[in-house]
Amino acid sequence: MMTIKLDGKKLAEKVKTRLIQRIADLKSKGIKPKLVVILVGGDEASKIYVRNKHRTAQKLGIETQDIRLQRTVKESELLTLIKTLNADDSVHGILVQLPLPEQIDAKGVINAIKPEKDVDGFNPQNVGSLFLNDPHSLPCTPAGILQFFEEYHLPVCGKHVVIVGRSNIVGRPMAAIMLNHDATVTITHSKTKNLRKLTRQADILIVAIGKAEFITGEDIKPGAIVIDVGMNRNENGKLVGDVEHSSVNERASYLTPVPGGVGPMTIAMLMEQTVNFAERSADFDGKN
Ligand code: NDP
Repeated sequence: MMTIKLDGKKLAEKVKTRLIQRIADLKSKGIKPKLVVILVGGDEASKIYVRNKHRTAQKLGIETQDIRLQRTVKESELLTLIKTLNADDSVHGILVQLPLPEQIDAKGVINAIKPEKDVDGFNPQNVGSLFLNDPHSLPCTPAGILQFFEEYHLPVCGKHVVIVGRSNIVGRPMAAIMLNHDATVTITHSKTKNLRKLTRQADILIVAIGKAEFITGEDIKPGAIVIDVGMNRNENGKLVGDVEHSSVNERASYLTPVPGGVGPMTIAMLMEQTVNFAERSADFDGKN
């Protein structure tokens, strides 16, 4: 079987192109979409990620502001900053780069971001709306994955979707999105028994566990659609997914590459979300 590559790089470009006219329309109304990224301390990987977000936004004409805080910052200071940004009408999206240092309660920080500006869709109100099938914003990685199904006309309705991993940023919201699209969803995690028996039943397998090349060709049903979210360094320092591509290739019908699959889509969706929020703020103000 010829496995078709789900090209995230190409699709991300398409998503960004779609945004150009919308951003121009907003600007004609005097609104410049603006995203604020808060980075506390920050390891090298986060800094690179933030830089990439910044670069993409700049190309599109989305204003971004990076606020870097010391690792030792007090929780109260961070909360005050979020309050100020919540009240600032020129800010449409607020993103706090996770993980946060230990002295800060990440839950409290996420709760503090106004749901209307929560570009990551992590605020409990947004998570709740998603589970009630009335989403206000979708977490960027699962939202990006959904785009593949739309772009390649891959039906989700009635399919058995097996998700490996139940994190708040990927697995759980992905399950809700697929359920909202009428799939039959199985969520698996580290305590799941007979995991591989379940993955073999998947029409659509979505893997987000952070374990290099964990899922192999034998673990999938021939013809399955496989989405590899993982980004891991193997022993040779090479970037690899959670799926072993050498054995899954030619067994899957569709497969996202690593790199160039899910990753570029995450950033593209962050941009789209910021534009969505800017448009909604314009509607709210009656400016259009
Ligand atoms: P987390 O570490 O937050 O969650 C991992 C999940 O995988 C947990 O639910 C865990 O189960 C489960 N898990 C771990 N080991 C196993 C196992 N042996 N069998 C079954 N389930 C297992 O990871 P994230 O969701 O944040 O990220 C997952 C991967 O995706 C990482 O490689 C990350 O780098 C990548 N990623 C990529 C993004 C992109 O844009 N391309 C964006 C976000 C993440 P339990 O809950 O029981 O502990």
